[in-house]
Amino acid sequence: MSAFITRCVHAGRSDLKPRGVHAPPIDLSSTNPLVGIDSGGEAYERLASGQHGSSEKSHVYGRLWNPTVARFEEALAELEGCAQSVAFASGMAALAACLLATAQDGGGHVVGIRPMYGGSEHLLQSGLLGTQVEWTTAERLAGVIRPDTGLVVVETPANPSLDLVDIGEIVSCADPVPVLVDNTFATPVLQRPATLGAQLVLHSATKFLGGHGDVIGGVVATNDVWAARLRRVRIVTGGILHPLAGYLLHRGLQTLSIRVLAQQEGARSVAGWLHAQPDIVAAVHYPDEHRLQTDLDGQMSGPGSVLSFEVRGGRRAAAQVAMSCRLITHAVSLGGVDSLIEHPASLTHRIVDPACAPSDALLRLSVGLEDPADLIADLAHGLDQARAMLANRTVPGTP
Ligand SMILES: *Cc1c(COP(=O)(O)O)cnc(C)c1O
Repeated sequence: MSAFITRCVHAGRSDLKPRGVHAPPIDLSSTNPLVGIDSGGEAYERLASGQHGSSEKSHVYGRLWNPTVARFEEALAELEGCAQSVAFASGMAALAACLLATAQDGGGHVVGIRPMYGGSEHLLQSGLLGTQVEWTTAERLAGVIRPDTGLVVVETPANPSLDLVDIGEIVSCADPVPVLVDNTFATPVLQRPATLGAQLVLHSATKFLGGHGDVIGGVVATNDVWAARLRRVRIVTGGILHPLAGYLLHRGLQTLSIRVLAQQEGARSVAGWLHAQPDIVAAVHYPDEHRLQTDLDGQMSGPGSVLSFEVRGGRRAAAQVAMSCRLITHAVSLGGVDSLIEHPASLTHRIVDPACAPSDALLRLSVGLEDPADLIADLAHGLDQARAMLANRTVPGTP
């Protein structure tokens, strides 16, 4: 098999040459001509039961199957080392489909390992989709698995604390309950949970897979049985990815490896610099490379490009830093080519139970492809503003 970076470039494109095209065609058809009533009905039946649609003569209707989306799915499955993947209109739609499929299967008890992305925590906590969550930690997992446990949900590294858990250990404690790993932060470039036994690997494709801040999507890489279940849910609930988004995500995969590795280099520099500002930065949260290689047996090949840090002076000082950055955009989301900074406690994790919510002093930084020296200069300015605010003076040269 060719190298990972080569597969990023070529995956999901094997039908292009025979068609005489170089870039994947964008198929925007909302409906498809039917060959006949009987064959159309049979195709409908097969697709609605979650079967793979690549061999169908007619895809019947755009909510059932789309070839542009299917190419992206094939590519992502290959990169994650899974049989298939199923793409959704957003990361949350992807998680919702996993929960609906779990509830339908009779496994209404879902175990969530904290911490995780605020939206995921909120969806699990709501019980909206027929599952009932029990929160635990990686260490206590084995004790909470019940006969009706249908799914274990974990995120590593976690948003926004960058906490890590040992995927192999979670899988063996949960056995035979399937484990869903949210791999949004690591991407398959750095970590492939399916190779460690996870049955479901979820992405907010909005983040690194798209990588340019211009598409919302979600995807779950999994085995054949789960893929059929998820497609069935997707067809009845309508959360399919739009073909234009599918095209952009497929294109994003071509540069995924090079972006993730270059952004990681930038993040290493920025994290190192933040560590050296202890008078104003109380803590830096960034995966420890030594621990990754030793305790975690290299489950993630590098620390990635998202980090968070706590500013001395609490919420006011954190707000000052976020608002003072000029190159780094103050905005939610992450994983794109441009750097973003945000305050989880008031935004992405606002709805999280206060007992386990992120600190008010915490800022999350997604490092993009800019020269790290420019990012550091921007952060230095922001931190100076916070220092000045705390000392109750103004910094020369500020409007
Ligand atoms: C953003 C995010 C999600 C939600 O994805 P959307 O595409 O915004 O619906 C889920 N998990 C993690 C880790 C995220 O960062």
